Amino acid sequence: MELLKERILSEGRVIGEEILKVDSFLNQQIDVELLNEIGKEFKKLFSNKNINKILTIEASGIAIASIAAQYFKVPVVFAKKFDDDKTDDSSYEARVFSFTKNKGYKIRVSKRYLNKEDRILLIDDFLANGQAVLGLENLVEQAGAETQGIGIVIEKSFQEGRSKIEKLGLQIESLAIIEKMENGKINFK
Ligand code: 5GP
Repeated sequence: MELLKERILSEGRVIGEEILKVDSFLNQQIDVELLNEIGKEFKKLFSNKNINKILTIEASGIAIASIAAQYFKVPVVFAKKFDDDKTDDSSYEARVFSFTKNKGYKIRVSKRYLNKEDRILLIDDFLANGQAVLGLENLVEQAGAETQGIGIVIEKSFQEGRSKIEKLGLQIESLAIIEKMENGKINFK
C-alpha cells in the first residue's frame, strides 16, 4: 500500500536493526484518515471471505481493527494482556512472548465473545516473530471458531513471523513488508 509506505519512510524511526517506531500515525498519535484507507484495503483483500468478527490485541490493534470493522460491518473483539499467573475459567487464555518488551504475558478473551460459529479475521499492527498472531489463533481454536485470514499493517520479513504463521495455511495480507532495516534505512520488499 503506497500511502502507508510513504508514511513509514517519512515518519518511521528505526531503533537498532529490528524495531520500527511509527508513533506519529499508528502507535500513539493516530491518523484516522490513513486508518480508513487501511480498513478499505483489508476489506478489498478479504472480500472473498465470509467474516463475522475481527479479533485483535490491545492496545494498538484496537483502533486499526475498529476502523476496518466499519467496512466489514462486523464487531471487534480485542484480547486483553495480563501479567498475572491466575487462570480465569470464564476466558480463553494464551501465552505470548513479546520480543519488543523481552517478556512473556497472557492474553485473554471472555468466552462470551468468541464461539464456534465465528469466522474470524485476525488483525494486528506489526508482524515480527508471529507470537501475537499465534496467541490470537490459539484463542480462536479454543473457542472452536475458524480464522478466515490474517491482516497485518507492517510486516518485518527479516523476522520469523511469516514462516511461523504460514504453517496455519491461512490467507495472510501485509500492507507494507519491510525486508531490511540497516543504519536507520528502511527497505521494502
Ligand atoms: P510478534 O508477536 O509478531 O513477535 O510481534 C508483534 C507484536 O509486537 C505487535 O503486536 C506489536 O505491537 C509489537 N511489535 C513487533 N515489532 C514491532 C516494531 O518494530 N514496532 C512496534 N511499534 N511494535 C512492534
